[in-house]
Amino acid sequence: MSTFSIAIHGGAGTILRSSMTPELQQQYEQGLQAAIDKGYAILETGGSAVDAVEAAVSSLEDFPLFNAGRGSVFNNKGGHEMDAAIMDGRTLEAGAVAGISHVKNPVQVCRAVMENSGHVMLAGAGADEFAKTQGFEQMSDDYYYTEQRYKQWQEAMKEGVVQLDHTDKESKKFGTVGAVALDKDGNLAAATSTGGLTNKKFGRIGDSPIPGAGTYANNDTCAISCTGVGELFIRRVVAYDISCLMEYKGLSLREACDIVVQDKLVKIGGEGGLVALDKHGNIEMAFNSEGMYRACKSSDGRSEVLIYR
Ligand code: ASP
Repeated sequence: MSTFSIAIHGGAGTILRSSMTPELQQQYEQGLQAAIDKGYAILETGGSAVDAVEAAVSSLEDFPLFNAGRGSVFNNKGGHEMDAAIMDGRTLEAGAVAGISHVKNPVQVCRAVMENSGHVMLAGAGADEFAKTQGFEQMSDDYYYTEQRYKQWQEAMKEGVVQLDHTDKESKKFGTVGAVALDKDGNLAAATSTGGLTNKKFGRIGDSPIPGAGTYANNDTCAISCTGVGELFIRRVVAYDISCLMEYKGLSLREACDIVVQDKLVKIGGEGGLVALDKHGNIEMAFNSEGMYRACKSSDGRSEVLIYR
């Protein structure tokens, strides 16, 4: 039987252990479990890696505790601007949206951008308009309202700061969701989706929708989905750098992830992490923060749902 695997994340950084309650931890774990099961079921029945990452990320976008889709954070104008991307490692085709505001599942719009638009990335009002013409339901602002996010935004405004999801005075936290998958045919895919940073400037775009920065898939090397301070992941071209270390230097997935996450990113203050898969089904879930909401499942029996180190 050929190997197939999926790995997902719900953001690096996580709530500090000291602030996490058993009930909340259980909710996060349930959200991760539901998403990984959806993606894995598709792979198990012979579905494609692209279908699996789209399904897993859609599930995470619908789960209000993660900063993507429904649980997206507020920007400095009190609105929601979401970024997302999907990439097919078989063809190197990609679709992305940046600053989209009124769709339920940005990752599904990315799929439509990849397959139906003739372009790779659509931004702002144009992305929303495209989604409408493709038949995606338009959500009102209420859909994205959660009390927790509203409070985070109010605090961030009071202090005049731009914050990562969950950021508190003790530590910086991140929020984004993503998935990488390898299907039975040996094809890799990656997808990432985020609400970005709390109180971010209107119009700010992070790493998640940028192929090569926060999202990348190439059947010859790996599939990667990142989470962390987007500006630093863009500057380090994190996802493509890992692919290049494998392609040009012959490094293993683990060696490449270690160099980029534990050394190159750390040197410029880039806190965060990523999930990664290679064409053999090896899984890496690397981070340099206190934790990362993450899960993986593979046909060789590995199955994990984890938050902290
Ligand atoms: N990378 C995301 C961004 O900068 C945020 C995150 O992963 O928490 O938009």
